[in-house]
Amino acid sequence: MDHQNDLMRLGVITLFPEMFVALTQWGVTGRAFQDMRCELGLFNPRDHAVDRHGTVDDRPYGGGPGMVMKPELLAAALADAKASVGDDALVIAMSPQGKVFSDAKARELASAPGLILVAGRYEGIDERFIEASVDEELSVGDYVVSGGELPAMMVLDAVIRQMPGVLGHANSAAEDSFADGLLDCPHYTRPEIYEGRVVPAILLSGDHGAIERWRRAQSLRRTLDRRPDLFEGRGLAAEERQLLKEWQLLYSGE
Ligand code: SAM
Repeated sequence: MDHQNDLMRLGVITLFPEMFVALTQWGVTGRAFQDMRCELGLFNPRDHAVDRHGTVDDRPYGGGPGMVMKPELLAAALADAKASVGDDALVIAMSPQGKVFSDAKARELASAPGLILVAGRYEGIDERFIEASVDEELSVGDYVVSGGELPAMMVLDAVIRQMPGVLGHANSAAEDSFADGLLDCPHYTRPEIYEGRVVPAILLSGDHGAIERWRRAQSLRRTLDRRPDLFEGRGLAAEERQLLKEWQLLYSGE
């Protein structure tokens, strides 16, 4: 990040730059671009293609289905991206073979000097480009999508919302799932009764201390039920056990 004016410089290497309006023109991230908290450069390898068809891919050595993105065109697009985003930008290729992206990683990337994401298409990217020019590979989960654009937008969205001032309420990001290692608590709004379901009475009590304790107990219960892996290696603290007990949310044997 450019700490002088807090402008985050971002770039994506993509064959489909038009897709990125989903990030730059809508919602929280759209506002971050409007407010000049970040800027996004889009760099298309096709602009460097040398034939009149604009070819950016070729058949895989060794045979097999699908096509592979040509390394020299990706390198040319990366040179453009570095000239604009900065030579010290972190270069990240989107790939199902990368480390799985996480909240902790989003927070780490939010303070990078700049980010350049590479969106693959077809069977993927020539391995030599990855070896020569990519700092790390990131996956959005154990499944395969058709291209790196949606994964890149997911990563950039998660990073942008971690930047100071992007979310309206100062604590919003801190209270989201994963920020403190737990899932978020359930949320309710008007009406008080919806299809016979009543808002938990504690939320109407005005007792802010009790509400905070209830919310944390709910977060703990949800995390234990849905994502017990988030407790791996640490278990429940005595204070957390007490909180669950207070709200009758501790199961026998826990
Ligand atoms: N042949 C590749 C494999 O099995 O590892 C998958 C290629 S995929 C059809 C095309 C591109 O989509 C990839 O190069 C990558 O940029 C992107 N992609 C697909 N799934 C992804 C995931 N789970 N995380 C991040 N990027 C993904």
